This record gives sequence, structure tokens and C-alpha cells, in this order.
Amino acid sequence: MTTDDFYAIAPSARASWRLVILMGRNARTYKFALGDALLQRASQGHTEIPLRDLAAPYAMAILERQAPQAPGSEAGLGATDFLTVAAQESAESRRLGRPTDRLLDAAERSMPGMVMEKFHNHGGSPVPHSFYEVVGRGRHRTVRLSSALGRVARSYEREGLRTELDARWSIVESSFATGIGRSLLKEGVHVDRDTLYITERHRRRPVTGVAGAVAGFQHGRCHICDESLDGDRPAVDHVFPHALMRRYAGVNGWHGPDLDSLWNLAVAHAKCNGEKSDRMPTPAELIRLARRNEAIMRSPERLHTTLRLTLKNAIPGRRISDWRTFLREVGKACA
Ligand SMILES: [Zn+2]
Repeated sequence: MTTDDFYAIAPSARASWRLVILMGRNARTYKFALGDALLQRASQGHTEIPLRDLAAPYAMAILERQAPQAPGSEAGLGATDFLTVAAQESAESRRLGRPTDRLLDAAERSMPGMVMEKFHNHGGSPVPHSFYEVVGRGRHRTVRLSSALGRVARSYEREGLRTELDARWSIVESSFATGIGRSLLKEGVHVDRDTLYITERHRRRPVTGVAGAVAGFQHGRCHICDESLDGDRPAVDHVFPHALMRRYAGVNGWHGPDLDSLWNLAVAHAKCNGEKSDRMPTPAELIRLARRNEAIMRSPERLHTTLRLTLKNAIPGRRISDWRTFLREVGKACA
């Protein structure tokens, strides 16, 4: 699956947004802070604002996410200056509930080179929709917010995209947490069965809810009925019912892969999930699950790793490389 396939399933400004936020590479997390600020301003009905008006929610979003990360070479133009100032102005800005003038100056100066020029890039080319344009120079720069951003921001009022952004941010941020070596990052994540939270495999520390982390890869649609999840508090469905593991727990044991793992957990309306109960998935649901898992495999870290390891290890002696084959094999194990 290419990212074009992801877009083609539901071509819309929201799909472009998800390419940027959920599937873009993130050496650092500024993209999420900018996304957050853009949604905030566009949802207030703005269509053209001074760069400084965008810099305020951007800077606060970074401060709210705890300590600004240490400057690194990959952080981009202006990052060192911005992060140094952010660290120095953090306490005072928090006290005020808004960025200090000095922090605002630093954010305004650094944003274009640090994050705004690259925001729309995905895999070397721009996503199909543009969400803003920076016009003017120096202190007179303004940001024109596009109609595509307006459409996305109206979805934002229903909270779904905001939840997805937060979840991805948490996952990326936990990857940067101190004390985690590169080797541990290769081990993916674990889902806590009781809380349905994604946790770090080793520290068992909750990172984010499964629903927030995967809904966007399903285009915000219910896995069971394929309608929008908007306006409903979603449930997490075991696509192959968890009861299978109990049913087979007797004589020969369950030989399939772990059904409490990310590959088998999809987001659905609570009502659809309740009606489905312990039945087996339909062919249409399996196609949607395969596509969803392919989409997650396109995201850069941790969730991707988790699914890659599932494909590699779940069925001993078989080298399976695609999700449709994998799901067919699991279906056979249940027959
Ligand atoms: Zn549904």
C-alpha cells in the first residue's frame, strides 16, 4: 500500500490532514504543535491572521507538552534559538497562561524555517490539500488559512482529529523519552487488555488510548458499519473475537496470534460493537482491517513496528508479508 492508496479510499481534506499528522515523518514534534495551533485558529473562523497570532497557541502547545526537547541537528533552522528561549521563558509563560513577548518573538522568528515550510511535505511531495500559505516578509508576515483547513477544523469541533493528533504526539514523544535506547524502540508497543491503553513494552507506562491511536488510520469510520465515528464515544472491537482464545484454551490450545494485540483491535460505534458481540468478522470487515493495518504500517514509528513484528512472528514457520494473507490464515485457524 502506498500513501496514495490511503488517500484514494476517502479523498478529502481530512485524508490530507491525516497524511501530515498521522503518517508524516517526525524527527521532532513541532508539526503537532503547528497542527494544534492551526486547528484552534481555523475553528474560531479565522481565514487570515498575523503569524504572531499563530505563534501564541503554537508556543503554548509546546510548553503544555512538558519540557521542550533538547536541540538536535535534525530539528531544523532556528530550533536551537527557539528551544533555548522556550526553556528560559517556560515558567513565566505558564504563570501568565500565555507566551511571554520574548518567547513569542522566538516562535515567530523560527516557525517558518522550522516547521511551516515542511508541514505539507509527505514522502518527498506535498499532500493533495494545502492548509495555509505564508505571505509577506519579516514582522508583517501573515498566514492565510485555506478553505481545506476550514473543513478540517469543522471536523475538529467533533474532537476526533484532535484526539488523533494528541495520540500520535504522545506516541512520538514517548519514543523520545529519556532512558529508552534505540533497541527498545524496535520492540513496538503493548496493549493493556483492561484499559485498552497502549503501553510501552518494558516500562508498562500508558502512552495513549488505542481508539485515539488507530481511528485516523480507519479514516475516522466505524470498522463494523463503515460510517463516520463523529458524535459517538467509540468502542474498541476485537475483530476476531477474544472469546476464540477461551474457546480453544482447552484440548489443543489456541494456535493463532494474540487477539489482544494491535493488529486485531479496531474502533467501532459502541452500538455496532455491542450488536456484533462474539461473532466472526465478515469479509468486508476483514478487508477494512487489512487496509487499516496497511495504513498503520505506513506510519513511521512504534505502531508500525508493532504490526511488522506481528506479521513476522505470529504464525510460526510462515513468512507472511501482507495483511490479507495474514487474516485469511487466522480465519483458517478458527475454522
Ligand atoms: Zn458502526
